[in-house]
Amino acid sequence: MLSISGEAQNLAEEKNMNPKSKDKRSKRDLHFLNDDGMVICNHRDPEAAHRAEVEGIATENIASVTCKKCWEFMGKKRGV
Ligand SMILES: [Zn+2]
Repeated sequence: MLSISGEAQNLAEEKNMNPKSKDKRSKRDLHFLNDDGMVICNHRDPEAAHRAEVEGIATENIASVTCKKCWEFMGKKRGV
């Protein structure tokens, strides 16, 4: 019955793989709003900007942006 104890161990390890779940708000990325009020990683979609603002996942504070795409776009802009 070694396989059973092995499965139990796998389950325990899976649980440990989600340390972020203790803070439910952190699962949502914060997006950066540009001067036009658009989400920078989706700057051609006004609906995305509206959604982000309504859901409180958009910020003008660059330091609190967690969206990787937004950072990529900011990096590209900086490089131009
Ligand atoms: Zn984004």
